[in-house]
Parts: sequence; structure tokens; C-alpha cells
Amino acid sequence: TPLPIRRALISVSDKTGIEPLARCLADSGVEILSTGGTATLLQDAGIDVVEVGEYTGFPEIMAGRVKTLHPRIHGGLLGRRGEDEAVMAEQSIPPIDLLVVNLYAFEQAVARPDCSLEAAIEHIDIGGPAMLRAAAKNHAGVGVVTAPAQYPAVIEAVAAQGGLDAAQRYELAVAAFNHVARYDAAISDYLSARDADGQVSAFPGQLNRHWEKAAELRYGENPHQPAAFYRDPLARPGSFADYQQRQGKALSYNNLADGDAAWACVAAFDAPACVIVKHANPCGVAVAAEPTAAYEAAFATDPTSAFGGIIAFNRPLDAATARAIVERQFVEVILAPAVSDEALMVTAAKTNVRVLEVPGGPVEASEWRLQPVGGGLLVQAQDRALTADSGLRCVTREPVSEALAEELDFVWRVAKFVKSNAIVYGREGRTLGIGAGQMSRVDSARIGVSKAAEAGLDLTGSVLASDAFFPFRDGIDQAAAAGVRAIIQPGGSRRDDEVIAAADEHGIAMLLTGMRHFRH
Ligand code: 5GP
Repeated sequence: TPLPIRRALISVSDKTGIEPLARCLADSGVEILSTGGTATLLQDAGIDVVEVGEYTGFPEIMAGRVKTLHPRIHGGLLGRRGEDEAVMAEQSIPPIDLLVVNLYAFEQAVARPDCSLEAAIEHIDIGGPAMLRAAAKNHAGVGVVTAPAQYPAVIEAVAAQGGLDAAQRYELAVAAFNHVARYDAAISDYLSARDADGQVSAFPGQLNRHWEKAAELRYGENPHQPAAFYRDPLARPGSFADYQQRQGKALSYNNLADGDAAWACVAAFDAPACVIVKHANPCGVAVAAEPTAAYEAAFATDPTSAFGGIIAFNRPLDAATARAIVERQFVEVILAPAVSDEALMVTAAKTNVRVLEVPGGPVEASEWRLQPVGGGLLVQAQDRALTADSGLRCVTREPVSEALAEELDFVWRVAKFVKSNAIVYGREGRTLGIGAGQMSRVDSARIGVSKAAEAGLDLTGSVLASDAFFPFRDGIDQAAAAGVRAIIQPGGSRRDDEVIAAADEHGIAMLLTGMRHFRH
């Protein structure tokens, strides 16, 4: 049974939608208490409110630092209904049955590049979290509202039944603790990344990211592993986790993991690109004048592996491309920054295919890459750069023309997204053979060659990228035998001389990047 609301306190930093909520309460005969800015706004809207200072007999002081921190407020929120009435009457503390508070916009404030340490500290809300904790703890008798998205349901409950029932109050209390936890986490992350002089260290002393559950998954990597998906509320817009599913079966754990790998890789290209991923590795990548051609070329790299793959585009999915895909192959997931209605009419024929749209994408998500280890978490900056500041260096007698450099740039970008040891063969903006995840580099080189042969692709005149240096000349000899004409690799091996001499012997051109791209 819903509890009637006699008195409500409203004190909101984000004032979106507060007026209709307050009006609904006032119309139901609820007495409204409110703080400075909120009270002014509501009074201007013609809604009767009592200012907190008037209510407590104690003015707001210290530029708002002390507003609601008063026993008459906290007693009204914390008093146990059916238990503390006597003491409340004795101290003249009327019950407050509904609290509407959202906290100072700390995250937005510190996101501004010119935010000083002092300004950040002024955005630490004190009375708000105290009231939220009080009301949420006492949800047996009090409702607590922390977000404009909750207002419509509250308005409906008040209008229909005069108050909130126990299940609603519990759910709102959990949301309130989450609101406070996220807020405190943001403060802790911000402050623990700085010293007293405001000097910033890249990695805070604490890592309190407030992950939000986005979905329960049927299972994890394997059917016997329960699993869920959590979102980083601070992720950049256009990140993979912003996906909106336009059709298809529910996403699995592996779909999400592979979708993320495909999204990160396709984000690496400016021209229209297509990336097909299987088991977290690209099995075909291409750039072309338009998405359909990019897909055809990416598919041709390795049709066997592309079966049941994840296909990502950095351009909107159109009907022609959708048709090319579903007529040719079984596909688990298609990902694009937008999906046209005509494309959806095409994919609708295959109801299982999951079609995801990520507006504003593709972007690589966060500044960090996290990897759990037993009992800990490894944190590193994302691998954003492509080559060392010193730039590309041609080290062979055979020169690298501008056109050839462009071809090498393409395979180099792909190699960054292939698990180490990575060897990528390609030509003219498309992959021809990919060797991934081997413990020895020469094995990856060999696998790339045999994959190309299997797909009926000729490596004569192709280019090759290696994610890290060649420790021996065997990889170069292998490449030469396959018909490779140019290689891009970081360099830096003790045997670079021997490796370069091998390239010269075979008439192969070689660019050194000075930067490697292991990916594990
Ligand atoms: P208003 O715009 O109504 O003046 O202020 C609303 C904000 O003040 C809300 O974000 C609320 O959490 C915060 N607030 C309420 N009481 C106190 C208090 O006693 N101290 C501080 N620092 N903030 C408070």
C-alpha cells in the first residue's frame, strides 16, 4: 500500500522537469520545502514553497555550503515511521516523506579544461548526499528521487494512488545510493589523480569507475559461465557500448567482445572501410570508394573464416551492402554508425542477424585499456599512435613511393588490431592474408601465405606489415618467396642489419615505424 506524502523537500542542481513534478505535488496538497535556487524557480512558476531557512529557523550560510544540514531536515527524513513519533513531536520535527535531490554537476565541472582545483572543490556537494543517504536508508517510510527520468513515474503514482509503494521506494533508494556512489567516485578519481598543487598524474591512486549494468547476457564465453555487460558512463559518444540494436537475436558475450574489436579496427580508417572479425581477430579488412566494394574485398580475404563473423563499417549501412552480405554469407552481427530503413528491410529477411547502430561512431572508447589479471587490473593508455615521432624511415636500397607508402599504411593499421604475433599481407587497400596470434613470428608469416593461397589470392606484388620487429631474416625470406615487394615494421631488432640486408638481397623495400603494436 502506498504511503501518503505530507511533506516533500526539493533541492535540485539539474532543474530539468522539476516544475511539473512540484506542481503535481502541490496540487495533491503536499507541503513543499525547497532551497535557494530551486525555491526561486518554483516560486516564479507560481508554486507555493517554504524556504528551508524559514523552515529550520536557520539561514542558508557560507554561499550555500550549509543549507539543509539541520536536525529538523535530517530528523524529518530519518525518523522511523511508527517508532520515532514521540521524539519527533517533542523536538517539533515534522516528517518529510519525499526527497527530490540531484547533486552538483561535479563530473561536468571537472570535464571543462579550465576547471581549477578550487572550482572543482566548490562542486563537492555536502548537504545533498547527506539527505540522499538519509532518505534512501529510511526508504521504509520515505521516497527519494534523484533523476528527471524518474519524475513521470512519481507523478503517475502520486496522481493515481497518492504516494509511492514499497517496491517503488526500494528501487528509488537503490538508484539514490548509485547516484551518490557515482558522485563520490568521480570526486575520488579526480582528487586522487592530483597533488595539492593541482599537478595531475595519469593514473589516480584509486580507480573507482562506476560501471552501470547495461545487459544480463545468456552466458559468457562458454555456456557454463554466467555473464553480464556493464557500460562506462564516462565513455566517449560513438563508443561501441553506445550501440542500439535495430534487429536480431539478443547479443551474446562473444558478439560483444568481437563487435568491440571490429568497431575499434574500423575506426582506424578515414575512407569507407569494412572489417570482418572472428574470435577477436580481423579476418578481412578493406577500404574502397564505397561500403559494398569494401565488404566484397574484405570478404574475399578469407571466406571460410568470415562465415558467422562480425562485420563493421565506418559508413552508414545501405540496402545494397546489406543485400551483398545476407545473400553471400551467414553473419552474426552487422555494425555501422547508421542503418538505413531500406537496409533494415533487407536484413529483416534474416531475423537472427543482429544489426547494431552506433550513432556518432566509430570512435575508440576510453583513454584506457583495462585487463584483469588474477586479483588485479592492468591499466594502460589506449594504443592510439601509429608511428614514432621520428616518423617513417626507408632503410632499403629499394625506395618507397608515395603510392607504396599508402599501401603500407593500410596493412600497418590493420596489423595494430591483429593479435600478436601479427603478420598482414595486403594490396591496394585490402588484406590478402592475415597470420594472427602465433607464438613465433615466422609461423604467422607462413599462415598468412597459406590463407591467401586457400582463398585463391596471389601475393605477387603485395605488401606486408609486422606488428613488431623481425628477430631473424627468416620472415623476410618467407615474404620474398611469397612475392612481397614492400614491408613495414617497427625495426629495433639486434639483427636489423641482417634483416635489412635480406630485404636488399630480395629487392624488397622496407619502412621502419619506430613503434610496435603488440596486442594480446
Ligand atoms: P539550489 O539551486 O536549490 O540553491 O541548490 C540545490 C543544490 O544544493 C542541490 O544539488 C543540493 O544537493 C545542494 N544542497 C542542498 N543542501 C545543501 C547543503 O547543506 N550544503 C551543500 N553544500 N549543498 C546542499
